[in-house]
Amino acid sequence: MATRMAVGVGVVTITEFIEARLADREPYADDDPRQDDGGRCEYLLGEHLEPGDVRRLIDSLRAILAEHQRGDDGDCTTCHHREPGWAVPVPTEWPCPTVRQVAAIDAGRPDYDETWKPA
Ligand SMILES: [Zn+2]
Repeated sequence: MATRMAVGVGVVTITEFIEARLADREPYADDDPRQDDGGRCEYLLGEHLEPGDVRRLIDSLRAILAEHQRGDDGDCTTCHHREPGWAVPVPTEWPCPTVRQVAAIDAGRPDYDETWKPA
């Protein structure tokens, strides 16, 4: 399963993709989204967010990403799943469903790799 894709002259991993999207939101994390900035905050954040919501969202997604890393064996360092015939859960291939869901938040972006789409 592909976990990297070519974008322009570079290659983006799912982790790099998520970190870049979180960095895109970072400037709005500590601003009051109710302040008038020509509608940019409303477009990016929605109109029902309270101050601090974006900060908490970014921090939570970074914590999830820190917990779900690609291990040296190519599997998620956290996730396991059941396989028929196995008595114990087996490691889940990277990128795991949790990281795929986090990346799917920004699935409309041009550098989103459709192979990351959650099952
Ligand atoms: Zn995982």
